Amino acid sequence: MALKVTTIEAFSDNYIWLIHDTENPTRVVVVDPGDATPVLKTLAEQGLELIAVLITHHHPDHVGGVETLLAKYEVPVFGPANEQIPCINYTMVHGQRIQIPDSGLNFEIIEVPGHTLGHIAYYGHDAVFCGDTLFSGGCGRLFEGTPAQMTASMDELAELPPETAVYCAHEYTLSNLRFALAADPDNQALRDYQRACQLLRDAGQPTIPSTIGTELAINPFLRCHETDIKRAAESRMEHPLETREEVFAAIRQWKDSFA
Ligand code: ZN
Ligand code: FE
Repeated sequence: MALKVTTIEAFSDNYIWLIHDTENPTRVVVVDPGDATPVLKTLAEQGLELIAVLITHHHPDHVGGVETLLAKYEVPVFGPANEQIPCINYTMVHGQRIQIPDSGLNFEIIEVPGHTLGHIAYYGHDAVFCGDTLFSGGCGRLFEGTPAQMTASMDELAELPPETAVYCAHEYTLSNLRFALAADPDNQALRDYQRACQLLRDAGQPTIPSTIGTELAINPFLRCHETDIKRAAESRMEHPLETREEVFAAIRQWKDSFA
């Protein structure tokens, strides 16, 4: 049975995800509640009970609502061991498995440093909740980590089964795809995906979730081994690039200044 996940929009482009218990869909886990207000509203409107909070990394747009939620719901809060985040009572490291108490939900922790140093992703039920690491068509900015760390994190996510649904924390897809088309203009799958995403956004729909299989076909940050991406990065940098990490660093830097 496919995992039921509800989208809550927050701030200008954040998604807060509600994961419904596989045994009782009125019980939900919230991922990265940066703002409590829309979460409390959705819980009340849909008659849902909060049973746990999952945190991917320490940025305020991902943790800002936790305290307010805890004032109303006494629930466990899971989060990265390697970041200082108040309210977390279960600290998670790579490879750990968590069972959400009194539910059918369980997840494996994947450490994905790069955007922040302690960033983790939650994988389970053919879905991955990856915060600001992998976006559709892009990846998070390297605020704390190195290109080598982020490349290794991308590799971890790329190894998940292709059908895995990718629930990232921001609707950045169309702007990511504008850059992706500049770096990878001959990629027909990318062109097709851009058209499909534009239609979704025109209809007011989220482009998320994506899948690992889709991202492998269209996301330049997962395609640093491809000759086309390497050539584009080299012509941008005006010198040869030896390793995948160098290609990754070049396109990340290119995207940071892409208008
Ligand atoms: Zn962030
Ligand atoms: Fe964020």
